[in-house]
Amino acid sequence: MNPAGEGMGPDDFDKLWREPIRFEITIVEVASACRANHKQGQTFSFDWNTPQGICGESFVGMYPLLFSMRIGGDMQMLGSPDRNTRIYTCPSRVVKFMITAREQCPLCGSMEGLESWPIPVGTSQMNLKVCPQCRKIYGCDCAE
Ligand SMILES: [Zn+2]
Repeated sequence: MNPAGEGMGPDDFDKLWREPIRFEITIVEVASACRANHKQGQTFSFDWNTPQGICGESFVGMYPLLFSMRIGGDMQMLGSPDRNTRIYTCPSRVVKFMITAREQCPLCGSMEGLESWPIPVGTSQMNLKVCPQCRKIYGCDCAE
């Protein structure tokens, strides 16, 4: 497989491109019996696919937050102390999930030293945030 994705199959997609946002969810409170058997301290880490074992109703309920965080929504506008964190309480008001959105290099998954990489797209440009290693590997012929 090459960086252009030629000759790639469905299993290669995750190796070529990751979502630019990775979610970390920690269950911070379980007030009473939970049908999904969630436990305090349980964690989930994912970027695109639904994490295995998470309550379906809770995931559907928190999805608008996840989507907003994925496109850069500021959770401080909803009362969170940080722009990238949010507490979500399940529809049964039993489980509290701490959601954290972190930027990751879409090429390798690294979260270290991400920097903007302007890529020409037609008459405009798209800014990717990539790690310094990937920027070096894949190069950049754009003006800076
Ligand atoms: Zn990278």
